[in-house]
Amino acid sequence: MGEYAECPQTVSAVSAVRGWGGVDKSAPMWAKWFVDRGFAIFPLAPETKKAVVKEWQRYSTTPLSDEEKTKYLKMVEEGYNYAVPGGQKGLVILDFEDKEILKTWLGETALNELCSKTLCVDTVHGGVHVYVTADEMPDHKFNPVFVKENKGIADLQSFNSYVVGPGSCIKHEFCESGKCALKGQDIVTCYTPYNNNKEIGKVDLKGLLEFLGEKGKKLGIGLSASVKAWLFGEKSIEGAKESEDLGKLKKELTKYDSGKSTEKIKEELCKDKDKLVREVVCQGRTYADIGIDRSRGDWRLIVYLMRHGVTDPDKILKLLPVDSKAKKTKNGALRSISRIHSEKRGQLPKNTYS
Ligand SMILES: [Zn+2]
Repeated sequence: MGEYAECPQTVSAVSAVRGWGGVDKSAPMWAKWFVDRGFAIFPLAPETKKAVVKEWQRYSTTPLSDEEKTKYLKMVEEGYNYAVPGGQKGLVILDFEDKEILKTWLGETALNELCSKTLCVDTVHGGVHVYVTADEMPDHKFNPVFVKENKGIADLQSFNSYVVGPGSCIKHEFCESGKCALKGQDIVTCYTPYNNNKEIGKVDLKGLLEFLGEKGKKLGIGLSASVKAWLFGEKSIEGAKESEDLGKLKKELTKYDSGKSTEKIKEELCKDKDKLVREVVCQGRTYADIGIDRSRGDWRLIVYLMRHGVTDPDKILKLLPVDSKAKKTKNGALRSISRIHSEKRGQLPKNTYS
C-alpha cells in the first residue's frame, strides 16, 4: 500500500491545481493505478475532457496493449489528462452531478460508508464519481440514471462512455458545459479522490440503483424510465398494467376458443391449401426455412388461426414455429394477438370475440 502514500487526497480540489509541466503528480500515479489493475485508460487533451485517440470506444472491451500502456502513461506524465472508460471488467461509474444533493439524498454517513468501500472521486464541477464493478450491468450508458423534477441529476457510464480519471485537471476557460459555474474563467481544478479508499468495490448494481431510487423518493428523485425498464422489465408500472390487460385478454380469448386440441387443429388445418400453414404448422418448418420475415409470419399465422377458432394464446404459441418472434418474449404471443385483436376487430368472424 506504500505506493499510495504520496497521493494528495487531503488536498482540496482547488489547491490541487496542477501547474503546466506537472507539479501535481497525482494524475500519472492514478493512471498507473488503473493500468496496474488491468483497466484501460486513454489520454485526453491537457486540461480538458477531450479524447485525443480515435475510436476510444474500443477500450470498453479491449485491454491496452503493452505499447499503449507505455505510450499513454507517458502522455499523462507529460501533462495530458486521462479517461477511464466504462464497460471494461464490469466497471460502471455513477456520475452524480451535485455532491450536496447526494449528501442529502444518501445521508453523509451512508455516502462515507459507500466511499469507504469503493473509489469515489470529487469532480471539478461539484459532483461525485462512484466507481463500482458489477456482474450484471447495462450494455450502454444511462443518461440520465436519476431524475429530479424531470431533470437529469446523475448518469451511469458504461460501455462506450467514459469519465475523466482522478488527478486529471480541467481549465474552466475551455468548459463548454452550461453547467460550469466557472465557465470561461482562467481557473484550473482537479478530479480528486473523495477519501483515502483505494479499491473499486463490487456491487449488485441493480440492487444499488433500486436502493438509491427508494432513498431519493422523499426528495423527488427517481430512476429514469430507461433504468426502470432495465431494472424491472415486465414488473415496471407500465409492465404491470400491461400484464393485467393481457391477463384479461387471455381469459377472454380462452373463453372463445373452439376447445379443440392442438392435434385436432393440426389435422383439420393441414387439409387446407394455405402454403404457410402447411409448411410451418404441418411440416414443422421455420420462418427461416421458408424465407419469411418473423413478424410477418407470426401476424399471418395468428390471424389465420384465430379465423379458424383457435384463440387460446397457449395453443397458438404451440402452433407457431421455433423461430417465431412471439416465442422470444414473455407474453409475446398475447401481445401479437392483442395487436391483431385491436386492428382486425370487425374483420374476424363475429363469434370469435365478444
Ligand atoms: Zn468548468
